[in-house]
Amino acid sequence: MGAFDIACPICGGPTTIDPNFLSAMEDPIKKLLEWLERLVAIRKNHVPFFGTYDLYGRVENKDGSVGIDIYNVSGEAVGLHEKCWELAGKPDWHWFVKHRLFSGDHMYLPPFDKYSGQFYNWMVFVSSDDISTAFDPSTDETNSNRILKRIAEIQLYKRSCD
Ligand SMILES: [Zn+2]
Repeated sequence: MGAFDIACPICGGPTTIDPNFLSAMEDPIKKLLEWLERLVAIRKNHVPFFGTYDLYGRVENKDGSVGIDIYNVSGEAVGLHEKCWELAGKPDWHWFVKHRLFSGDHMYLPPFDKYSGQFYNWMVFVSSDDISTAFDPSTDETNSNRILKRIAEIQLYKRSCD
């Protein structure tokens, strides 16, 4: 059994944390990583939907009664970190289409791609120096700058393709 591991199309990082691993983490580290699980699904109708990843291609609300399919093949919505969405200026569906940003299986960007497998290798990731690339961008300026740089690259890429 494998989950559909989905990476944030903006920062390229994981959208869920292994629950067994999360419970074993120290509180200060947990606090820095919690933002990874707060997602938003941007849909064609422009109403943002907030929730968490259900491991099967959907962003779902707290009690799991409503879920939005964000998996690439559906083409109906894109799912990403709420904070990455905010850093990008809360763009709507058209922005994601224009820049060809979709959610899909294992689309991790460096350095996250090194830890991708059937399951994301949290054990190795957390004990590596790369862990700082997953720290909350609202409190970690280095990571905030990394994500903003990526957003600038996304916008530049589209311009060069026009
Ligand atoms: Zn992100």
